[in-house]
Amino acid sequence: MISWEFHSPVTNIADFGLARPAGADVFVSVKRDDLIHPFVSGNKWRKLKYAFQDLQASGKKEVVTFGGAWSNHLLATACAGAVHGVRSTGFVRGDEVVSNPVLNLCRVYGMELIYVDRTTYRDKKLLFDSYVRTHAKPEDVYFIDEGGYSAEATEGCAEIIGELDEQFDHIFCACGTGATLAGLSKGLLASGLSTRLHGVPVLAGGAFIQEAAQELVPGADFELHLDYHFGGYAKTKPELLNFIKRFVSATGILIEPVYTGKLFYAVYDLIGSGYFNPGSRILILHSGGLTGFMGQQKIL
Ligand SMILES: *Cc1c(COP(=O)(O)O)cnc(C)c1O
Repeated sequence: MISWEFHSPVTNIADFGLARPAGADVFVSVKRDDLIHPFVSGNKWRKLKYAFQDLQASGKKEVVTFGGAWSNHLLATACAGAVHGVRSTGFVRGDEVVSNPVLNLCRVYGMELIYVDRTTYRDKKLLFDSYVRTHAKPEDVYFIDEGGYSAEATEGCAEIIGELDEQFDHIFCACGTGATLAGLSKGLLASGLSTRLHGVPVLAGGAFIQEAAQELVPGADFELHLDYHFGGYAKTKPELLNFIKRFVSATGILIEPVYTGKLFYAVYDLIGSGYFNPGSRILILHSGGLTGFMGQQKIL
């Protein structure tokens, strides 16, 4: 890469490129973290920045982390590891060896993949400890949780706020673990801005994000919009796919069905329902993850 100092640009989008929802005189901008790197994508780059700096400062040589078979985080870690000369090992949820474009790229970047059944996968500290115990050089190995969920992740994501040249009334992000949301809140709290922060969980039952984010950043302040998961993680509906096709073809900004499609749909829907005051300035964080399309070819 990819210096860890890159600042992603902000793109203004006139009206989502779609027929603007009635009464929606709001201004929408997109923070283009999707442009940071094709595979150390968006918020994964933000989340790995301080974890890798911590790893290297502590003299460790290998990172061990965790993810599902389509995990953007596994791929980001594999790629960042290759760039920084850090060996990577990924525990993959599901005990059948699978071959898909994301895991294949992980392998190409040199990540060693270990498949574990869903029950064993749940206790990541235990998996890590038993891996380290049989390792030739246990002191070399660094733990990064699933999705990069960590205090270091919030440091990296908080920097997004410092990169902004304009003030916004609202900032929106997609949520999986809540670390990105927590980091944005941290950045806003430090800045003293009155910007309202919003999270759109992409999985069903996303209310847990409230606590997950506040555990990383005590006092984190945001609103969750729980009704845009479209049936659950990586689930989709024709309405979502149609929105994505219209949005991408009209704006040239690629979004995908797992994270950013749901996020942009949520903002579009809230605009249409009159949620925002006229003249509101809204920033959407494009958190990358465009490999999310690789598993979706059939539905398109
Ligand atoms: C992983 C991911 C997220 C989820 O971020 P969290 O910090 O886990 O909430 C959001 N968007 C994209 C594109 C992702 O890959």
